[in-house]
Amino acid sequence: MTEQSTIPFLDLPRQHAHIREELLENLTKIVDSAGFIGGPYVADFERDFASFCGAKGAVGVSNGTDALVLALRALNIGPGDKVVVPAFTFIATAEAVSLVGAEPVFVDVDADTYTLCPRALEALDQKTLSQVKAVMPVHLYGQPADMDPIMAWAKKHTVEVIEDAAQAHGARYRGKAVGSIGRIAGFSFYPGKNLGAMGDAGAVTSNDMDLLIKVRQFSDHGRKTKVEHSVVGQNARLDAIQAMALGVKLRHIADWNAARASVAEYYQEALGQKGDLGIGLKLPITGAHRTHVHHVYVIMLNDRAGLSAHLHAHGIQNGIHYAAPVHLQEAYAHLKYAPKSMPVSERLASRCLSLPMFPEMTEDQVARVADTIATFAKGSAS
Ligand SMILES: *Cc1c(COP(=O)(O)O)cnc(C)c1O
Repeated sequence: MTEQSTIPFLDLPRQHAHIREELLENLTKIVDSAGFIGGPYVADFERDFASFCGAKGAVGVSNGTDALVLALRALNIGPGDKVVVPAFTFIATAEAVSLVGAEPVFVDVDADTYTLCPRALEALDQKTLSQVKAVMPVHLYGQPADMDPIMAWAKKHTVEVIEDAAQAHGARYRGKAVGSIGRIAGFSFYPGKNLGAMGDAGAVTSNDMDLLIKVRQFSDHGRKTKVEHSVVGQNARLDAIQAMALGVKLRHIADWNAARASVAEYYQEALGQKGDLGIGLKLPITGAHRTHVHHVYVIMLNDRAGLSAHLHAHGIQNGIHYAAPVHLQEAYAHLKYAPKSMPVSERLASRCLSLPMFPEMTEDQVARVADTIATFAKGSAS
């Protein structure tokens, strides 16, 4: 066998090669001016990101978890309240609810799109429903949740909709970009997200400017003016260096998302014709009325551990999103959800495997991943 190079899970240094000079020039300006907090880079990015989302406004914040916390606080959600979240997501969705003193209510996800199942909302009992103040659909892996029935359910029960858009910058549902559909939304700019900063960062978007005023106030020590603090806030601001990097990258995200879509098509062409390969293989499915921005490319299969090891042995990096549904994580043991209470989420957690996915990934690299999966399938059949 010839020595083959590693196929990384994502390749940020390569992405930065094109924008490196611009980032460093701007960084020099920030260092020389010492304008590290607030200022024009933050204001410009907030304006441009709101416009990218088709939302009236955006407030830059410290990270995606804080974005969700601030959205909850702006809606006055806290102790005694419940918030519905999908069981299959990154733990931060539920963590934000717990951090404001409210309690997450886990519901199962759809078996094909892996996003919050609207039928699970209909199944909530009256007692729980009477305490539910919000639902937080997650646009998982880059695909919008099924927003129409979620919005209709929320309206019927006077419940707020907070979008967790941390994985789906630029994805659309019926033509509307995520971050402009619910009452308010939280984004993460963790470096590995589709739009990533040079450290931790996040944003809150909304069409309700009064709500965003509250978000900004909570994010900046409850300040009304420089010296007057009218509520107990926190420090969760976006800093100038991150806003600068995000402003540079925002100009490329449409191209990068389009390149991710091509990579997903290459995978579909290379693997989609072959059925389940005898290993229970299932490729990502995009639900009706949605565009998918493929934050991660997640396949499902029977022997996840076996394929993961096989890929690693052939120099192909891979990951797991997520190994356990949130209701069964130790952190939420106190809520006493029983195993098998969320059958779809639990099945997905034992079967999911994330393959390399990044805008610069080539068709040849995808072909090598697909061939390696095919040799694994042959090996497990014999
Ligand atoms: C990344 C992520 C978050 C949290 O974002 P951080 O910036 O890491 O705090 C929240 N929800 C989901 C679904 C995420 O993927």
